[in-house]
Amino acid sequence: MDKITFNDLNLSSDIKKAIEHMGFLHPTPIQIQAIPHILEGKDIIGQAETGTGKTAAFGIPALEMVDITQKRVQVLVLCPTRELANQVAEEINLLSRYKDIKVQSIYGGQSIERQIRTLKKGVHMVIGTPGRVMDHLQRNTLKLDNLKMLVLDEADKMLDMGFREDIEVILTRAPERRQTILFSATMPKPIMKLTTQYQHEPLLIKTQQKNINVPQIEQFYFNTKGRSKHDILCRVIDNYEMKSSLVFCNTKKGVDELVGTLRRRGYLADGLHGDMGQRQRDEVMSGFRNGTIETLVATDVASRGIDVKNIEAVFNYDIPQDTESYIHRIGRTGRAGKEGRAFTFAASREVYRIKNIQKYTNTVIRCKELPAIQ
Ligand code: ADP
Ligand code: MG
Repeated sequence: MDKITFNDLNLSSDIKKAIEHMGFLHPTPIQIQAIPHILEGKDIIGQAETGTGKTAAFGIPALEMVDITQKRVQVLVLCPTRELANQVAEEINLLSRYKDIKVQSIYGGQSIERQIRTLKKGVHMVIGTPGRVMDHLQRNTLKLDNLKMLVLDEADKMLDMGFREDIEVILTRAPERRQTILFSATMPKPIMKLTTQYQHEPLLIKTQQKNINVPQIEQFYFNTKGRSKHDILCRVIDNYEMKSSLVFCNTKKGVDELVGTLRRRGYLADGLHGDMGQRQRDEVMSGFRNGTIETLVATDVASRGIDVKNIEAVFNYDIPQDTESYIHRIGRTGRAGKEGRAFTFAASREVYRIKNIQKYTNTVIRCKELPAIQ
């Protein structure tokens, strides 16, 4: 069967253009299942792991149903934290870049006066934390009379954070005839109670997608444009003040050469490859673990067992031979819920390989500007 594309989902051309611009090639399983039902107006309970594209799963149909001529709040998205509200707002702004939809995020720590002014001017969509949304409801600066859709994003987390009461008040203040969408990674009893009480014949959508997105890992690539790769590497390490990074080369010779260059430039670097004896490898690994080695340069074979905490970044100094190695390499960073970054160096003629990796992994690898040379 051919893979489902965004063309199969009945979306407007503005949204499809924005999706293309974001580099999404195929909808994720939760998107494939949720988008058509949300567009039909059904209430949804969506259960899927982190990093499976839930924001776009509700964001896309929400944007489709907004009536642009009505500058009133039609969609309200509740998120547990400012950071998450911000992330959702960013993604929705990207999705709506070709539509004239006003999106406003409201959360604590931001000037409430400014929020009130923007709300007064009229917005179509509000993304906020329950606390601040309640605040606006009490001040009557946010009106929900025209609300068509209410989204509870990361509902389990919101309940864990003690927002149950706020959420219930908000749900009762919203018009009865609205669509209620709930996303949650887990489905404990309190969530089930919320859905039976406040949703109308909700449809449960559960996907088992493995998170190949590895969302804690931000992925970038540099088009090296003929600049020397070790210059770029050094600049990036300096810019981020990296104390622990892992650099992949495709050959042993490449490893040795790069280690030499880095050392001559004063970096605490060492190498790891298949020609080294076990004792020597163990020494290097313990140096990397305890911080006497800050930059470890390695081949794929040597990286198999590497499980070091707090690796800040993985560099693909050479593009890996295949996608499996790419996933394996970048998986060395961002472990145990920690954030990580992956940087891949590609010459202009190699950029198509980055595109292929994106296609296969269904992730976005952003092009990054080359750091300035001192
Ligand atoms: P979740 O809410 O399920 O944790 P997000 O909605 O935050 O996941 O999405 C995780 C990442 O995946 C984001 O960077 C997002 O831009 C990206 N993403 C979402 N949908 C797709 C898609 N169809 N193809 C590629 N990347 C996607
Ligand atoms: Mg999310």
